[in-house]
Amino acid sequence: MADNLTLGLSQLPDEMLSFTILKASEGIAPRLGKLAFPGRSTIQTPHYVGNTSRGVIPHLSQDMFSKHTNIDAVYVPLEDFIEKAPQQTPPVYKLVLPDTESPLRRFIALKQDALLIMGARRMPPVAAPAANTNSAISILTSVGFRHLASSDYVAAAQRLRPDIVVGLGDIVYKQQAKPSNKRVAKMGDRTEAWTKDIVAGKSGLGKTTRGDSCYSVFAPILPISHGLQSSYLDELADEMRDQLSGLAIYDPGSLVDLPEVLSPLPRLSFSEPASPQQLLHELSLGMDLFTIPFINAATDAGIALDFTFPPSNEPGSAKRPLGINMWPSTHATDLSPLSSGCECYACTRHHRAYLQHLLAAKEMLGWTLLQVHNHQVMDQFFAGVRTSIGKGSFEEDRVAFETVYEPELPEKTGQGPRVRGYQFKSEGPGEAKKNLSAYRMLDERKELLAEASTPSSGADAKDLEDIGFAEVAERQ
Ligand SMILES: [Zn+2]
Repeated sequence: MADNLTLGLSQLPDEMLSFTILKASEGIAPRLGKLAFPGRSTIQTPHYVGNTSRGVIPHLSQDMFSKHTNIDAVYVPLEDFIEKAPQQTPPVYKLVLPDTESPLRRFIALKQDALLIMGARRMPPVAAPAANTNSAISILTSVGFRHLASSDYVAAAQRLRPDIVVGLGDIVYKQQAKPSNKRVAKMGDRTEAWTKDIVAGKSGLGKTTRGDSCYSVFAPILPISHGLQSSYLDELADEMRDQLSGLAIYDPGSLVDLPEVLSPLPRLSFSEPASPQQLLHELSLGMDLFTIPFINAATDAGIALDFTFPPSNEPGSAKRPLGINMWPSTHATDLSPLSSGCECYACTRHHRAYLQHLLAAKEMLGWTLLQVHNHQVMDQFFAGVRTSIGKGSFEEDRVAFETVYEPELPEKTGQGPRVRGYQFKSEGPGEAKKNLSAYRMLDERKELLAEASTPSSGADAKDLEDIGFAEVAERQ
């Protein structure tokens, strides 16, 4: 039987993901590590994880992703793929593949050597109107809000076989909504039950040649104080530690009082940092991996990120901006690259004037080039962070960064690509329309047209202009 061929491999140790801490100081401090998974590129930490939407990094096709970025790991939310499951089978579940392959990886055409991390919700998630229940969390699929039961999440993980699964956490995403005390008491209990479910599911259906596990588990640490989730944390430390491969952190403050026994695990941040300064703060607490929504947000806003770590010592009294807004026509004749010295595809082949033109023309390539550049800036940023931690100069460099750069990314001015439902932060009924109509008639012309009769075939351009059909271009 063909299955016998895989017997030797299936005797590999259960723990597939390995994380080695290369440098760490006592207590709360930045640290260096190495994350290795069989068949995937080894990731030097600290680093970021590519943030996907419907299986791709927005604006990047799979070939652009492979050829022109250095992204070695991606975060993929399940809610992007499951529509009305389990009542209706979504396409991703219809792929029949050998046990050695991940249907999710194949479905999104992700290259083999990229680490595939699956969670339930997008990053950042859209707040759902309904609350989580004892057995399910509220999610937003492409066909609307619904619940995802913990049992269905485990079944999805077994079936789709990502490398890493982030366990379900009972987290309240509504803005400004502080969970009540009664609610907080439930958060730890529910998350503990769901984490047990996903850990138990590891050895379930769909074993792979990589070992006895279908996937590795990152346990969520809730964004509430240590005291309020202490029984859950104790359970993780005492009972589940050996089954866990990492932690998903929603509030970097949690790193301060994590149980000691959990500290060798890699930490993946889901905290929505708004600026590189906030990343540096989390790094100083010992965070290892990040999902960073501001990269895609900057690209959508037409902003080319422009910072390095540690900052270069150019003289200048004013604080430097963290990015360049590429919309203004001041770039229209500028033949310099987006950032001087940047070696990305966009900067080595094109100039600012071309990029400004692409944005003004709403040409998709504009956002593609920005996305390539912005990820390169983050690659360099994290490479600089690792060197700095290695040399022991991180705190000094961090202070210098805060002195040199403005504290926030530039304001968004231009109209980005059309916003989709999953990008909405819903503010309730009566909110303003998010997208302007792509084409519209000027009111004056609408009235003229309504009154006009259909022009005859002999009508000239001037006649057409008079009845509102067109405008005669002025000769220069
Ligand atoms: Zn560049």
